[in-house]
Amino acid sequence: MLVAGDIVGGGCRIRFDHSGPALAWLAWTSNLRARHLHWIFGDQALFVRRGVFTDLGGFPDLPIMEDLEMSRRLHQRGRLVVLPATSTASARRFVEQGTLRMLVLMQYFKALYFLGIDPEKIRTRYLAARRRPQHAHPRVPHDRRTVGRPDAGSTRPTARSAGMRLGGTRPLRLLRRLERATRPIDPEFVAALARRWAELPAGVKTPAQLLGRHAVGCEGTHGVFPQCDLACTPCYHSREANRVRIDGPHTVAGVDAQMGLLRRLRGPRAHAQLIGGEVTLLDPDDHAEALLAMHRHGREPMSMTHGDIDEDYLRRLALDPDGRPRLTRLSFAGHFDSLMFGRRGIARPGCEADLNPYRQRFVDMFTRLRREHGIRFFLAHNMTVTPANLGQVAGVVRDASAMGFGMLSFQPAAFLGDARRWHEDYRDTTSEQVWTEIQGGAGTTLDSTVFQNGDLRCNRTAYGFWVGPHWHPLADGDDPRDLAARDAFFRYYGQVNFTGSPVPVLVAKLVRVAARHPRVVPIAVAWASRAVRRAGGLRAVARHRIRPMTFVMHSFMDAADVTPAWELTQRGQTSDDPRLRATQDRLAACHYAMAHPDTGTLVPACVQHSMLDPQENIKLRRLLPITPTRTTRHASPSS
Ligand code: SF4
Repeated sequence: MLVAGDIVGGGCRIRFDHSGPALAWLAWTSNLRARHLHWIFGDQALFVRRGVFTDLGGFPDLPIMEDLEMSRRLHQRGRLVVLPATSTASARRFVEQGTLRMLVLMQYFKALYFLGIDPEKIRTRYLAARRRPQHAHPRVPHDRRTVGRPDAGSTRPTARSAGMRLGGTRPLRLLRRLERATRPIDPEFVAALARRWAELPAGVKTPAQLLGRHAVGCEGTHGVFPQCDLACTPCYHSREANRVRIDGPHTVAGVDAQMGLLRRLRGPRAHAQLIGGEVTLLDPDDHAEALLAMHRHGREPMSMTHGDIDEDYLRRLALDPDGRPRLTRLSFAGHFDSLMFGRRGIARPGCEADLNPYRQRFVDMFTRLRREHGIRFFLAHNMTVTPANLGQVAGVVRDASAMGFGMLSFQPAAFLGDARRWHEDYRDTTSEQVWTEIQGGAGTTLDSTVFQNGDLRCNRTAYGFWVGPHWHPLADGDDPRDLAARDAFFRYYGQVNFTGSPVPVLVAKLVRVAARHPRVVPIAVAWASRAVRRAGGLRAVARHRIRPMTFVMHSFMDAADVTPAWELTQRGQTSDDPRLRATQDRLAACHYAMAHPDTGTLVPACVQHSMLDPQENIKLRRLLPITPTRTTRHASPSS
């Protein structure tokens, strides 16, 4: 088995030297977890290829959970296997102290770890637990190498033994905290969904609608880091704004205020874009501080960049001065298209394919960061489409899909922002044409009506995954059984907030809903079986990895329509003109909001760019005086 070159390590099946239903369940779930989640702990005789071990710099320097972290890093490097051999662990402590209590504590310590609690703090709790007097076996670990996983077997003392020393009331307290952390429904989130649903125009309240039923929409910042060092023809930022000074304190204060208002008006959880200039012109510390501020307000941030950055910048953003991760996950959208001028090494791209080395370099930087520091990432690829590059969209889809992006997003250019940047007749490119091109690259029809974000004239989205060279939808719009499964998802899981939940916590929430509504289980199993069958069966799925991929098209509206439509909406009037009426409907169903803490209002991004940016840019020029903008800190992709 180990001859296969892509296998980087693995372990054995575990069993305990005592029998009993709880221990059998623990062994079974541990083996299942090793096989499917690839979390292999020390008591499963974790092994690793020497070269990969050296490459990774040995075991992660963590005070606890280092074997869990090690297996996660190994899984990112290649395949982990569970050998057809058995490792026998002692159940002595379970038998002495109560197996069920131990099971709960094991999950608690793991949940703390996945919730991002500092491992040092987890270890402190573990050591504090050790000092409890109820244990009959006083031998305890003395250094970090003997701590390891929270549910390790007899090979070394673990948090299992720690938990057993806990006092009578503490387990109850721990249980309550675990229960709270995995509670599926947050009433505040449910109320935010209800408000969002009530605001939507009747025309978009379809069975496919995500707004108000599972999400409140996307959010973006404005005016917080308004400088850029590329020149893009259809950009919606003004040229003046691009010349103002970058100022870290202004950025962090602005982000904090805008996110605070979004938190109040849009509820406790949402995705938000750190946008409004080139984010990587910020000092890495200011950039990190802005992301942390967004997290503090319950926002899952995505940094929007042109991607022309150095690896050193990324490391300084993600790691603190001591080289420890200060962010466990990064989400970035890299905007790459041939309408952007001034990129290092390719000041004027000849065509979209010329940018492929730059796209790949961008992804590779994150891959290395994950490999070396365990920082997870999600990457989107953005592209503006005009008549000049419309015919190259399919090629970009094909090329970028193979690079490691999880989302490909396309924006047909619109007449909003600075008129001096309008160089083509953007109306010659229709949304229909762009979507047809995207489908050409995906090699299949993309049904954007199965799940809907706001108004379909603004947003088209197709969720799915690649298996080998074929893309498959998450739900097939032509299959009534899939549509019924989607409806069941909204009914039972719609109000469960997925945003920002670590995977184990999310899984626990889903399991709790399933336990309460067991009828979802056969629906989910049948849906998953159909999805696997469509993807070519289990063998095809096992041979090629599943690579999630979402296709998005966001069509901004022209300022000429947005301005009168918004003014009418503000006056509480509805236009008789069908075009303005349609614009008003789209604005009312807007999926992309920006916050104005000074007035306490939210506006659609179209309104921000069409109507509010010019005034805001004048103020910004006063606040942050114009300075020379072009910097020379970049290097070419080959460097
Ligand atoms: S920003 Fe404009 S185009 Fe985008 S969703 Fe909102 S109203 Fe629609």
